[in-house]
Amino acid sequence: MSGLFPPVIGRLDHAVCRNRKRLSVMFAMLKEEKREPHLQRPDAKGFIQGSEMKKQRESQCTQKTISLLSPLGTIQVSGCENGVHTIQILMDVAPAERSSEAPVSCVVNDSPAETSPELQRCVEWLQAYFSEPQTAGSLPLPAFHHPALQGDAFTSRVLHILLKDVKFGETVSYKRLAEMAGNPRAVRAVGGAMRRNPVPLLIPCHRVISSSGQSGPYMSGKGDHLKQWLLTHERQRGEG
Ligand SMILES: [Zn+2]
Repeated sequence: MSGLFPPVIGRLDHAVCRNRKRLSVMFAMLKEEKREPHLQRPDAKGFIQGSEMKKQRESQCTQKTISLLSPLGTIQVSGCENGVHTIQILMDVAPAERSSEAPVSCVVNDSPAETSPELQRCVEWLQAYFSEPQTAGSLPLPAFHHPALQGDAFTSRVLHILLKDVKFGETVSYKRLAEMAGNPRAVRAVGGAMRRNPVPLLIPCHRVISSSGQSGPYMSGKGDHLKQWLLTHERQRGEG
């Protein structure tokens, strides 16, 4: 998972704030809309040069967030009308022991009045993943609108291969995934790509395990128990 939300203060560093009023207006705007942090900031005079300005206009988007209550705790799905930007697992509860008899549900906890069809699609996919995982594979996937998933950089390539080729209930080693991405020596880079996955669960970085068979870290080691839960969930539901 990438550090998606840099501190607000870093953003203000780049702006010339001549008075308190302008500062408070900026805070209000930041609260209202979450802008993509990867975008170029205006220089000290507030200018963005030529093509950069065009690029920025195209990629600036207004995101909305839907909050779900899942067996893993709260999951937040954020995105714009072009597609999903992030799925975040907040880790606000310890997941209950996964047992094949226990019902699993994933319900919408909080949703803005209007959301995009892409966000809805993502929510439906997540709900199916938990409660009827055998159907999730046949559901349409939402579009993505996160820079880590665009272009042909290694991270993007690895994540798309993982999404396409490693199915429910399967696992793959970091090494094998590096091979599948056409670069057998890039085992470490595969690990890096997994850490930068902006849409966990949907792009199943939890299915990537170490060659020794141990599950390996999840969410930089903070979510190892979630990885276990997910792998058990898939094993049990895959049998059923
Ligand atoms: Zn967007």
